[in-house]
Amino acid sequence: MNQLELLWDYQLADVEADNVKKDIARSPQRLKLLKLRENIQEQQNFLKTLETEAAAMLDRIDVLQDAISMNEEQLKLLQNKVQDNPAKDSKEAREYIMDTQRLVNDLNEYDQETRRIRKDAADRDKKQRDIKRLAVKIKTEFDALREEYNTEYQQKAKELESLQAIADEKAKKLDKALLDKYNAVKQHSVPPMAKLVNDRCGGCNMSFPSSVLHAIKAGKDVECETCGRMILPD
Ligand SMILES: [Zn+2]
Repeated sequence: MNQLELLWDYQLADVEADNVKKDIARSPQRLKLLKLRENIQEQQNFLKTLETEAAAMLDRIDVLQDAISMNEEQLKLLQNKVQDNPAKDSKEAREYIMDTQRLVNDLNEYDQETRRIRKDAADRDKKQRDIKRLAVKIKTEFDALREEYNTEYQQKAKELESLQAIADEKAKKLDKALLDKYNAVKQHSVPPMAKLVNDRCGGCNMSFPSSVLHAIKAGKDVECETCGRMILPD
């Protein structure tokens, strides 16, 4: 066998090994595992968001508590003031009433917001518990599937290993430059080598100019101008 024939022989083994690699990458088990892992990641992110929001709520409650204490203090001061200096006229009385009303309104608002936040926090706690329960379920499913997949993968990996060994053995007979070229063509055309079929490229079916055809038949290392594949003469 000449170098091009040896390369063809190598390609047969290389394609077989690649097919098993593709099988591994496309395994439904593996894809499902990836999907589950994505799910788990999403849940963790969601939990983190909930925790961040819960911390912000606690901060807000602290702020509200301070505001409520301050308002109560002001209300007390105002009541003392009214007792010590009763309104002298109706204008002053109205002012006292308005000041009191303003403080009471603020207190009500703070109180309502606090209630809202506490209710929110309770909803959030429930959501968090639900997600955690779901996360445990998914993790269990993930672990079981991974175990199953590992068995499948080990078989495929063994198969790949032996096919790869065959291809490696064949590669030893090849000139390094030729193999490098094969790998370079493989980046854009798979498989990288095609046979000459009825004077056309067996890869893309384009015909060759007669000079190129001549070179191919003379056993020279020629690429198809259209698809870039290396051509093996018939
Ligand atoms: Zn071609």
